[in-house]
Amino acid sequence: MTRYVITGGAGFIGSHLAERLLQEGNDVVVLDNLVTGDPDNVEILSRYEGFEFLDVDVARPYELDGPADYVLHVASPASPDDFGRLPFEIMAVNSEGTRLAAELALERGARFLFASTSEVYGDPEVHPQGEDYWGHVNAFGPRAVYDESKRFGEALVAAFKRHRDLDVRVVRIFNTYGPRMRPSDGRLVPNLISQALAGRPLTIYGDGSQTRSFCYVSDMVDGILALLYSDVAEPVNVGMPEEITILEMAEMIRDAVDGDLEIVYRPLPVDDPRRRRPDITRATELLGWRPQVPVSEGLPKAIEWFREKLGKA
Ligand code: UDP
Repeated sequence: MTRYVITGGAGFIGSHLAERLLQEGNDVVVLDNLVTGDPDNVEILSRYEGFEFLDVDVARPYELDGPADYVLHVASPASPDDFGRLPFEIMAVNSEGTRLAAELALERGARFLFASTSEVYGDPEVHPQGEDYWGHVNAFGPRAVYDESKRFGEALVAAFKRHRDLDVRVVRIFNTYGPRMRPSDGRLVPNLISQALAGRPLTIYGDGSQTRSFCYVSDMVDGILALLYSDVAEPVNVGMPEEITILEMAEMIRDAVDGDLEIVYRPLPVDDPRRRRPDITRATELLGWRPQVPVSEGLPKAIEWFREKLGKA
């Protein structure tokens, strides 16, 4: 039996990873303090026999019994709204939380995966962003709590690899969407779908000409697991290589729910990246991975899930 430890396994991407591994018949221990994770996700995972849940803050020392073959450190609030709400929690989970999870992996002889982010590239001056680009980050700005702590996390993981021989994988996750995003998490997709389903105007920050590249969550899980089982110890971008403007995304959501909805414009947040698109050459060549779900297919699935979730609420 293979045993996986997933910090943040009650969250959006973490719970999809956990469920996939449970479906394959593995044992999965989720460590999560539910600061942004959802008890409903824990409920779903509890239906699988191999599942265990520990309600702990992974940024503080914790006890975990038994073996571990893989430790995936996926815990961290990740919405720009969280950067203002949970700044110290974010910095703690990506620094001390990463160190503790890496120590756990070392002690159990497990492979360690760190969930990094496209935010390490900041507001990029290179486009699309390849892994060799070092980034353009404002160390003193409001996004720094996330960007810089993820960068520190990568540095820590590199030190564990270099000086303590830890078997590491680093995934740089780009914008991801799908079922189990928190409807109130403040990001574009949950905001706009929730607004549309409530018949409210859709909010665009700035003029909507900034771009992102949206990856459906099942593709993200495939990419992360392909990296986990590979022998690639360097950071790898996992994300959608097709870029769209925020206005285009808003129009797609509007048209899927109610074409008469109004679009309203709000101020652009400080340091909001202008453009973002991953160069996925490394993932394609080394992992044989590329996304399979176009936004035209993934968005309706996400909207259906939100409809049900918000209907229940
Ligand atoms: N955004 C928007 N309206 C919203 C929420 C976000 O126009 O209600 C914009 C935001 O300013 C950014 C883009 O959508 O340019 C993606 O934002 P998100 O918070 O989803 O993630 P980010 O990629 O910035 O981390």
